[in-house]
Amino acid sequence: MSEFTISKPENDPIRSYAPGTKEREDLRAKLDELKGQEIEIPLVIGGEEVKTGDMGECVIPHNHSRVLARFHKAGDAEVKQAIDAAAEAWNSWSTEDFETRAGIFLKMGDLARGKWRQTLNASTMLNMSKTVYQAEIDSACEVVDFFNFNPYYAQELHSHQPMHSPPPTKNSVEHRPLEGFVFAVSPFNFTSIGANLPSAPALMGNVVLWKPASSAVYPAWFLMQLFKEAGLPDGVVNFVPGCGSKVGPVVMKHPDLAGVHFTGSTTVFQGMWQTVGKHIANYKSYPRIVGETGGKDFCIAHESADHEALITAMVRGAFEFQGQKCSAMSRAYLPTTIWSSVKQGFVEQVETVKMGDAEDFTNFMTAVIDKNAFETITSYIDHAKHSDEAEILTGGNYDDSVGFFIEPTTILTKDPHFKTMEEEIFGPVLTIYLYEPKTWKETLELVDCTSPYGLTGCVFATDGTALKEARTALRHSAGNFYINDKPTGAIVGQQPFGGSRASGTNDKAGSMFNLVRWVSQRTIKENFDPPQDYHYPYMNED
Ligand code: NAD
Repeated sequence: MSEFTISKPENDPIRSYAPGTKEREDLRAKLDELKGQEIEIPLVIGGEEVKTGDMGECVIPHNHSRVLARFHKAGDAEVKQAIDAAAEAWNSWSTEDFETRAGIFLKMGDLARGKWRQTLNASTMLNMSKTVYQAEIDSACEVVDFFNFNPYYAQELHSHQPMHSPPPTKNSVEHRPLEGFVFAVSPFNFTSIGANLPSAPALMGNVVLWKPASSAVYPAWFLMQLFKEAGLPDGVVNFVPGCGSKVGPVVMKHPDLAGVHFTGSTTVFQGMWQTVGKHIANYKSYPRIVGETGGKDFCIAHESADHEALITAMVRGAFEFQGQKCSAMSRAYLPTTIWSSVKQGFVEQVETVKMGDAEDFTNFMTAVIDKNAFETITSYIDHAKHSDEAEILTGGNYDDSVGFFIEPTTILTKDPHFKTMEEEIFGPVLTIYLYEPKTWKETLELVDCTSPYGLTGCVFATDGTALKEARTALRHSAGNFYINDKPTGAIVGQQPFGGSRASGTNDKAGSMFNLVRWVSQRTIKENFDPPQDYHYPYMNED
């Protein structure tokens, strides 16, 4: 028996970056270094750097004329090459012992915590326009946590064995990797999701093709280098940036597709699932489909809510990272009786929000990710501006001349089914609907039925009965439900993350429930004294 045991990990502590700290100095130096160069990013297939000449750009969203890198995009030939390289790596990686695999991922955790910390943070701040705090909780702490907690959860999963082995038998379950490859497709908004989507299946012995979002290839490239430095063998994770609608279908139809690990929009995920359904007879096994997708995350406040706590949750929950968290608060239901006090405090606070360059540490908000996002988000704001059903309470202005800046915008609507109460906007836009306190129970039903999503949501109340009622009525409205707290900021090992309904398969990233999707169990019964005669006692004559 191996002595190898992984002890319970601790969450990586958030550094303060206060003036005078070493982390602040290191981060500034890294920002200067990265901005002072323009790099070329290749594909990585079977450990080899591959260049196609079909180029995309990584830019700074808050200063979009600044190019950080140019990246090569995969075409059909490279996708096929990557599938072959993965198949080759599978031969050794799928039988590698757990101790070796886990050791590599724990090493990744060490590298992300130390040597690579400020590269991941600076590249995330520059390419995704995150403030230092938003980068730190994502590209440092959460990346470290995924690399440390997943091996621990994998160990826990492996310990799930049959309860009984009556003599003379021994029963066991082997948690085998899937046959074939896993397609990991990550979104633009979290470096940590980019780290987790390919690495969770790889930890379990799978081989992976990883396609990061085109607007976030830059930090993803540094993660690939970190994987290599930690000792991940060539071909285990193959890096194939490119256009999703081009790369996706070629990969998805391949008979060796064993799994899809996706985070992104609901539309894209549903399209991928349809492709799998259409080709179901062609696969060698039934692909595991894991997807975390969109949300229309709610806040409902009861008359008994603590006003200051509610206001802070609204400002942070709706506007941090420009509302581009899948968990961001985007619809709020407030009782008419507390509105005047909450409105005053909320508007006052939003008016103090500073927006600008991510490198100016005094800013709370920066730019949205790209032109497409800018146009989509501002079209919702314009819709509200021109509607009789809505008024703009804060913000409403936008400017993309230098960076893709949109003010923190709050819409007050009379219609609980107003467009911005129902559709995912994915930007700094919060819509508020006021309800009469006597309709508390009906309003809970309204919250539950208004959107097709079920990702996150929060309730604010000090009245215990109201909290109980909300908890029950909203049982299926959110996979991550918060009581007297904002609906964002889930931490690995504390609030396993994921939603149901149209928000995804709810396989809870950073938990054993996710890892279990990347293994296929083989049950083994060993008999040390097998029967020597086929007759049973009942067959004997009386
Ligand atoms: P997106 O759906 O536009 O893109 C996600 C990824 O899918 C990208 O890598 C993209 O290139 C790829 N893609 C696009 N078309 C494809 C296709 N046909 N085949 C294969 N891949 C394809 O999403 P985004 O704009 O990057 O991210 C924002 C969305 O992600 C929002 O809807 C948000 O709610 C969601 N999100 C959800 C979670 C969660 O945990 N539930 C977390 C983060 C983001």
